[in-house]
Amino acid sequence: MCGIVGITSNKQVTSSIINSLRKLEYRGYDSAGIATLNDGFINEVKCEGRVDTLEKNLSKIKIEGTIGIGHVRWATHGSPSTVNAHPHSSEKVSVVHNGIIENSTILKKYLIKKGHKFKSQTDTEVIVHLITEYLKKNDLKKTILKVLKKLHGSFALGIIFKEQPDLIVGARRGSPLAVGYGPNENYLGSDSYALKSMTNKISYLNDGDFCIVKKDQVEFFDNKGNKVNKKILKLSSNEQDYDKGDYKHFMAKEIEEQPTTIKNCVNEYINKMSGDINIFNFPWKSNEISSIVLIGCGTAYHSCLMAKYWFEQLTNLDVGVDIASEFRYRKNRFKKDALYIFVSQSGETADTFAALDLCNKNNMKTCSVVNVVESSIARESKFVLPIHCGPEVGVASTKAFLGQMLVLYILCLKFAQMRKEIKKNVYMEKIKSLFLLSKLAKKSLETDSKIQSVCSSFTDIKGSMFLGRGYSFPIALEGALKLKELSYVHAEGYPAGEMKHGPLALIEDGLPVVVLAPRDEYYKKTISNMQEVIARGAKVLLITNKSKDEVHSENIWEKIEVENTSEDLLPFLLTIPLQKLAYYSAFKKGYDIDKPRNLAKSVTVE
Ligand code: GLU
Repeated sequence: MCGIVGITSNKQVTSSIINSLRKLEYRGYDSAGIATLNDGFINEVKCEGRVDTLEKNLSKIKIEGTIGIGHVRWATHGSPSTVNAHPHSSEKVSVVHNGIIENSTILKKYLIKKGHKFKSQTDTEVIVHLITEYLKKNDLKKTILKVLKKLHGSFALGIIFKEQPDLIVGARRGSPLAVGYGPNENYLGSDSYALKSMTNKISYLNDGDFCIVKKDQVEFFDNKGNKVNKKILKLSSNEQDYDKGDYKHFMAKEIEEQPTTIKNCVNEYINKMSGDINIFNFPWKSNEISSIVLIGCGTAYHSCLMAKYWFEQLTNLDVGVDIASEFRYRKNRFKKDALYIFVSQSGETADTFAALDLCNKNNMKTCSVVNVVESSIARESKFVLPIHCGPEVGVASTKAFLGQMLVLYILCLKFAQMRKEIKKNVYMEKIKSLFLLSKLAKKSLETDSKIQSVCSSFTDIKGSMFLGRGYSFPIALEGALKLKELSYVHAEGYPAGEMKHGPLALIEDGLPVVVLAPRDEYYKKTISNMQEVIARGAKVLLITNKSKDEVHSENIWEKIEVENTSEDLLPFLLTIPLQKLAYYSAFKKGYDIDKPRNLAKSVTVE
């Protein structure tokens, strides 16, 4: 929802601003606009509707300038209309704003008394007039500090000034804001995606900070006006993402990338200093939602299933999980207080899209978790949570699965916090564990040689089974699916406790069974189920986490140990050896790993 862009350069900026606004379209918006500074004048073009319309308007009303700001608006105060579209300008300044100014009514009264005339119904316009007012007696920095102090609520701001034609001011409280660095130009954007086509060098503003962006220099300040130093992060560029590098397959590369994609995602969503989760402008209050329905297909369905466990553990929400192709044709009981979450890597999965469409037509609250932010599902859902893991080329999903789970976990924590269902210290512990997860995932990658030595037992077999309980059950399903997709071997994922209700009949001498038994509350039960299959001849590969306590069981064929983390994050670490198992089994058979037979990356037919 809504986004801002700013560019200061030695070249014309209008078309680059339009391109960046397109990148922000996935967020959902109702109007768009742009303002540039040229020859000492602020020029604005705005419209209701899409960036396409804005571009058409710009072909009629040409505006020039080497410095400018752009906006896609999701109205909170005042209807979606051209006059309410951002930027909002006075003769002296022009402002784009994401968020809500909660004390705008009081500020407006004060400003009207001072003689300011308002053109729009937005809360944003008070910022324009406040700046104009304070600039009369203060320099730029002082003005910004005074204005930010006056504002209550949330904001990300981009501001240009008639009398300071070489700079853009950016500021944030609540809403996210990034700065990008380019050759002879610098940028401001709601997220790194907005700036991706121009740069991969990014800094994020901390909450309460502001910055002064010039084409050859960027300065950051805290809320007291003290200068702060910022790290410049180098995000992986598109070209790198589409290149296999030294890897034999994209899938191998994508598996190895996971520590980095986890780190990027955690950094995108969580403020390391405060532990706050950057999910802003969520369109609904937490008390408007009492249940959640998670919908997906294939691997995405497994991430939904995983999220059910987390949501039930950490919140009091009712949680349902559905396979999109079933959901779309069932007679559903749509509930006003339900949030429908659609998970899809490509954002184009036909069944998931149809399920989303059905919910939208029934006026439901819809939210999507996608990797491709320009996709149909992202565009059509009312709120979007990108997984920030970069393009995934291998047909069998790996890093996107971890990315989906991660975003759902973070969303779950956000809900638990908003609904006051989690204690502050427990919340902070979980945030801490999330920041450590990337390092632990790296250790899971080191299971390589062990996996290579066991994988031949999974190649020419009648079938195999993957068992787990609790948090490990969805991972067992995903492990089995990976093996099916890549090695064309029958693999069955099952809740370990269900074995004796039928599937135990399949166990025979030498049948490979993967048992996921991390040392969580289900551990002892799963170990008992493991013993039951060993007793019937199964060849068990046990995947657990490290512990000083030995596993009390005889005749385990092989054992892999991942690192320790909190119980609810262990699924991330358990997944990686299973991805490798599928990869190496297919590799041994000489199959086309990145393009398994009969399968497509983006499932655009039902
Ligand atoms: N509250 C502002 C408005 O209604 C900004 C909304 C946005 O974030 O796009 O205009």
